Amino acid sequence: MNNFEVMLREHNLKATKQRIGILSIMHMRGHINIEELYERVKKSYPSISLATLYKNIRLMLENKLLTEVSVNNSKTLYEITKEDHAHMHCEKCNEVMDIDFCFEDMYKNLGNEDGFLLKNTQVTLMGICKNCQ
Ligand SMILES: [Zn+2]
Ligand SMILES: [Zn+2]
Repeated sequence: MNNFEVMLREHNLKATKQRIGILSIMHMRGHINIEELYERVKKSYPSISLATLYKNIRLMLENKLLTEVSVNNSKTLYEITKEDHAHMHCEKCNEVMDIDFCFEDMYKNLGNEDGFLLKNTQVTLMGICKNCQ
């Protein structure tokens, strides 16, 4: 089991119950948009407002505990920051899955002769998942 409390503190954030709740939902779902997250968080914390949820998400994004994931034709998704990886997006059910991929290695192998400083990498593979085929 992940210790979200430690995770929050390691990112210089106060480990509030709401934040721990948000992280455990994200851990369960993998990638989640704000509306779905709000619906689920409300079940445990009925008094939470969408504005408060946004504020917490923004803070955790700034501290790099969360990562924003953008996929085609879909709302912005959020996930707990992990090792470098790419995403596979099913165009039928909209599910987003992780696939191991190290962009830094790939980029180094390309030579990096133009002096470009790599800061963020997002690659999405489009397709149809096993269940939808
Ligand atoms: Zn699918
Ligand atoms: Zn991911």
